Amino acid sequence: MAVKAKETLRGLVSAVSIIAKPRCPRCHSSQDNLGVKLSTHRCERCSMLQRTASYLVTYSGKLIVVARDGEECSMVLTNSAVSEFVRDQVLLTSAHDAQALEEIIIAMPELEVTFSSEGLVERLAPPAVAEGEATVHSVQGNVLGAEEASTSYVRDSEAVPHVDDEGLAELFDVNLCCVVLCCVVLCCVFQFWHLCLLFMCFLLKIPCN
Ligand SMILES: [Zn+2]
Repeated sequence: MAVKAKETLRGLVSAVSIIAKPRCPRCHSSQDNLGVKLSTHRCERCSMLQRTASYLVTYSGKLIVVARDGEECSMVLTNSAVSEFVRDQVLLTSAHDAQALEEIIIAMPELEVTFSSEGLVERLAPPAVAEGEATVHSVQGNVLGAEEASTSYVRDSEAVPHVDDEGLAELFDVNLCCVVLCCVVLCCVFQFWHLCLLFMCFLLKIPCN
């Protein structure tokens, strides 16, 4: 029987199961009760307290993918495939958390899986964006970027006071507020009651007798 070449399948993950077996980086003994949410863990054999992230992980598991034609394909996850996925997708903070990895994989809109004739997964990754889609996305991105840039530019230039009626009125309002505030402070601190009150009345155009 001729050995069938490896295949690549694109589809939606319908089920996934990952087992992450942690091992001590010192004595290499496997750990049964490593708390993935805790920052440290004491090795169950050599008793060394170490960072959870420093424990080595060996992955295994199962993956069921529904191809675009609706056919379901069941595969076996290998340690190398999951390790590579964790590294490529920058999931090192969830590297020990099999449940988190399962949730990340099942939440993916599409997954590209390369597997051997024996059904062993060699590689899994989100599919590379097709050229047409990539162009559309990058063009949209550029347009959005340009729009944002121009908007922020406009906003920046608007922040500079214009010498028009509205601008002057705004500027005057701001200055008035500052002066009133200063007067209040002066009143409180230095008790220049009369002077400040008169000045405030003048500014606020309150007729004072
Ligand atoms: Zn150990």
